Amino acid sequence: MSELQTKAWAVSETLSGHYGVPRFSGGDEPIDELIGTILSANTNDVNSGRAFAQLKATFGSDWDAVRTAPLAAIKEAIRPAGMYNQKAPAIVATLEQVKTERGDYDLRFLAEMPATEALAYLTRFPGVGHKTASIVLLFCFNGAAFPVDTHIQRISRRLGITGRRASAEKIKQAWELLLPPDTFYALHINLIRHGRQTCQALTPRCEICPLQQLCHYYHGEGEWKSGA
Ligand code: SF4
Repeated sequence: MSELQTKAWAVSETLSGHYGVPRFSGGDEPIDELIGTILSANTNDVNSGRAFAQLKATFGSDWDAVRTAPLAAIKEAIRPAGMYNQKAPAIVATLEQVKTERGDYDLRFLAEMPATEALAYLTRFPGVGHKTASIVLLFCFNGAAFPVDTHIQRISRRLGITGRRASAEKIKQAWELLLPPDTFYALHINLIRHGRQTCQALTPRCEICPLQQLCHYYHGEGEWKSGA
């Protein structure tokens, strides 16, 4: 096992010891997750959740009704998510593409595909990048994809899992190479908890952090050496 793999395991185990091991308890409906993640771009969970709930309250669980609705009605329903002028057409385009290709909105076939193929399928949709596609795979199927949000990006760089300027895509690849897929769900959730509670962007609370011993930022090592 490489030094970096040992470190990745230590991070995963330490966070599980600290926060517990979140268990995957059955998947969300993939089309719901896909539309939900389109809504979540550039906003917080509360606002995107409110927009998704309003979309469902307006149109029910009938995605055909959303696909054929006037854009103005969709924009009104998803207003809390912000950027509704971009998000409403992206939702309609996604629903149209799924319906044309599949005949319905059932994306559960993705669970049977290798993760790389499923990611390639999902990233063909307008506005769906690797993060969104990985969220769908991880949260619907406990699939072999590691989504990287802003918290995970920041912590991974500080720990030295990657360089301090690594992109989200690079960080995703790093974790996927370092650890087996059955660790992804718990680690993803625990890293986000850690980012919210301890390793915050402006003032990380290093003095109480269980990852201290593993952290380049804390020790001023690697690319966090002064002058590096
Ligand atoms: S020691 Fe500090 S910088 Fe490193 S992971 Fe913990 S809180 Fe973040």
